[in-house]
Amino acid sequence: MSFGMGWKALQLSRLKNRQRCPRCRLQYDKRKAQCPYCGDLDSNGLAELKWKIEQDQQANTRLGKLFIYLALLIMIGLLLLNSQT
Ligand SMILES: [Zn+2]
Repeated sequence: MSFGMGWKALQLSRLKNRQRCPRCRLQYDKRKAQCPYCGDLDSNGLAELKWKIEQDQQANTRLGKLFIYLALLIMIGLLLLNSQT
C-alpha cells in the first residue's frame, strides 16, 4: 500500500464530488444542497456575479499575455547578447 496511490484516489473522489452550477458555471461540492456562490442570489445578484467572474477571467488573460511578452523580451535580449559576443 503506497501513499501515492491513496492520494490519487482521494483526489479522484474529490473531482467526482464536484459539479458545475447551471446558473453561474462555477464548480462546487455535489453534497451541498445549493451552489454556495449563487444559491442565495437573485437574478440581479447573479448577473453581478457573472460580470465579476468575467472580469476576473479577463484580468487573468491579460496577466498571462504580459508574462508571454516579458518572456519574449528576455529571450530576444539574450539572443542579442549572444550574437554580440
Ligand atoms: Zn452557482
